[in-house]
Formats: sequence, structure tokens, C-alpha cells
Amino acid sequence: MISTLAEKVTDELELSGYRAANASIDRLATIEQEFRSIANRDEWRKSPHLSQHIFDFTLPQEYQAKSILVVAAPVAPVNIGFVFGGEYFSFDAPPLSEDYEQDAANIFSEIKKIISPQGYRLSESNLPTKILASHCGLISNGVNNIGYIDGMGSYFRLSAYFSDIEPGNEKWLNNHSVNPKCAGCSRCIDTCPTKCIERSSFQVNRCLSLLSKEPTDFPVWINSKWHNALIGCRICQKVCPLNQEVSFKASIGADFDETETAAILSGEPLENLCSKTREKLRYFTLEPLYPVVSRNLRLLFKKHGLTVN
Ligand code: SF4
Ligand code: SF4
Repeated sequence: MISTLAEKVTDELELSGYRAANASIDRLATIEQEFRSIANRDEWRKSPHLSQHIFDFTLPQEYQAKSILVVAAPVAPVNIGFVFGGEYFSFDAPPLSEDYEQDAANIFSEIKKIISPQGYRLSESNLPTKILASHCGLISNGVNNIGYIDGMGSYFRLSAYFSDIEPGNEKWLNNHSVNPKCAGCSRCIDTCPTKCIERSSFQVNRCLSLLSKEPTDFPVWINSKWHNALIGCRICQKVCPLNQEVSFKASIGADFDETETAAILSGEPLENLCSKTREKLRYFTLEPLYPVVSRNLRLLFKKHGLTVN
């Protein structure tokens, strides 16, 4: 069987270590409608962090888009180290760094290399990629509200593109598939400290991953012993069997010395931090979250019994 150009793109991306799927441009309206209905929910509207997520469903003006490509790139876990009171501490942080920016640039140029010689166009997009990837069957969903991909587990980042190539043999799932492994497993449900996971529902506004990014104080019902990451929470991903087969690239991270740690803990404004501290925060995309980094770090040290002024 002769493969379509869309299939050639996904095959080539897979050879480079990425995973991809495509959908007809006709699906854009469904994606937009679904996102708007999520964004209308109370927990979304009332969350300062979630409500700042803005997507753009406008089609490219320069050409007639026919398909949407969604691509997953593997990312490495991130650990950030801090020296405080002469001791070294390492905490989990979101698996995102400038390494991913490089991947995103590679993905764009790889696709262009395949389709441009045939006169086709490609544009970056700002779409809700998790919804898209789930409908396309690129990810399956854990009951912990995390997406998983065979071979990458939950450690990947998604990007999406418009193109005028034909969508090819589109695989479109009307519902969001739950990974079959969840049926015989309850590890995340049992270990989640806030008990926000149930078999058929997920209370996002009780999830530490979200609460740790909110600029507002943690709710009073949060036990201080539950804090486990600089930003986010990896407990349910660490116990998940869908992550156990994954051979990660080695963790990457940065270390902040005693002086840098003290400056962050003191809540020194970002612009007053020294350039090497800012560079590390920027590399790990922590600059926009700096005020909560400072707050969360204080909470992590307090959890370890340390006094932070
Ligand atoms: S821990 Fe088990 S139930 Fe939870 S997402 Fe992973 S496989 Fe599913
Ligand atoms: S990220 Fe943490 S709080 Fe959220 S569901 Fe997973 S274990 Fe629970």
C-alpha cells in the first residue's frame, strides 16, 4: 500500500524518536468546543493558574489548512538542587527545559524538510494539545488525569501544527480512552495524598500539581508533609506501572549554592537575582513561576524541619 504524505511524516518523526498523529482540520471545531466547555467549569474559571491558559483556534490566513499534526517529544525528569544550612537537597521540578525548545525546533524543521519540496505548508499552532492527542489516540489517559505514551510513559511534551497536507488515515476516538492497565491497578488512587483521584472522576482543584502553581496560598486542609516537589507533584507518576518500562534519559538539573538559595528563599525580586541564578531558572522555564518557586521552597525546607526566616 502506498503511504500518504501524512503517514510518511509520522513514520519519519518516529525514526527520530518522536511520536505523531494527525487529524482532519474538520476536527478543530470539536477541539475548540471541548476546550471551551472545560474552561467554563468552575474549577477552571476560579483557578488563577488554569484560567491564564489561552489557546488560539484561528486557522492560518496564508493557505487553506487541511490537517493538524500533533507530535510528542520525550523529556527527561528534572531535579533541582539547593544548598541550605550547609546541606544539599534535591527536589523534583517540571520536566521542561530549553532542551525541549531545541526539540520543538527540530520537529518543525524535520516536517518542513519532508513536505516543503512538494509545495506543502506548515505553521505552528497554539492548541490544547492534550485534548487533541487523546482524540487522535496518540496518548492514553491514566485515571490520574495524566497522559501516557508507550515507550515514553508520562515524560513527553506535545506540540501541534497546521498544514495543508491531506490528513491521511486519521484515527479519531470520540471518547478519551483510559489506559487498559488502569482497570487492574489502583496505585495512584492509593498513594495520592489529597485523594483527588477516583475511578471515574478527577478533582483537579484538589491536585497538588495544580495547587503548587497557584499564586494564592495553599488551602488550609493541605498537610504540610504532602509537599514533595519544587513545582507540581510526581507521586502518582512515580508509582505508575505505565512509567516503569520507560528508560529515561538521565535526569537533568541545576544546583543553587547557599547564596543563591538564600536569595530565592528571601523572595528577592527576580530582576534582582544574580545572572547565573536567573539563567538556571530560565533554562528550566521556572522564571514565570518564580514567586511560587520561592514559596514552595520555603515549604519544602520547613517540611524537612528547617527554620526559614
Ligand atoms: S497507577 Fe495504575 S491506575 Fe493509576 S494511572 Fe497508573 S496504571 Fe492507571
Ligand atoms: S499529582 Fe499528586 S496530588 Fe495530583 S493526582 Fe497525582 S499524586 Fe495526587
